[in-house]
Amino acid sequence: EQKEATDLVQLVEEVLVLVEKDLQIHRVNLETRFEGRPFASLNANQVQQVLLNLIVNARQAMDGGGRMVIGVLANQDSNTAEISVRDSGSGIPADQLQKIFQPFFTTKKADARGQGGTGLGLSMCREVIEAHQGRIRVESQVGEGTTFTLRFPLAVVQG
Ligand code: ADP
Ligand code: MG
Repeated sequence: EQKEATDLVQLVEEVLVLVEKDLQIHRVNLETRFEGRPFASLNANQVQQVLLNLIVNARQAMDGGGRMVIGVLANQDSNTAEISVRDSGSGIPADQLQKIFQPFFTTKKADARGQGGTGLGLSMCREVIEAHQGRIRVESQVGEGTTFTLRFPLAVVQG
């Protein structure tokens, strides 16, 4: 599939339209922080799937609600753009941080209908981001929350 110069703020806003109602239902307070209007060369559909995965994970980590902050920023010094998803959820124990990107790693137990986690979300996310010459990183503190950050090279602006 093709990559095109993509407005990251617009990409994020299109995903938020899909999740806003669900976040409200789960008492998640959503805040956006957009600094600049960076473009990156992306397959927008794939990156939107990644973002959706990160948002669903974040929501699931906030049992009883919480606060989610989604940011977009441009860093002209490093020629990169970042999308971040921060939650005030359970956090991830240090000994699990290295495992969460592995296929089939999940801590979500099957419920009464046998629906647990597949453990495939983050491994898909990493695959997609690396196919974009991007990086995905995580910072987490148990009891405080978690931030996932996607970083992409800025698109070359045609002069
Ligand atoms: P799944 O959601 O099916 O469990 P993922 O690959 O999306 O699989 O995530 C793997 C695991 O990483 C989750 O089961 C959970 O333990 C942990 N995780 C991912 N995102 C978060 C988050 N925002 N807060 C806390 N734990 C998380
Ligand atoms: Mg998941």
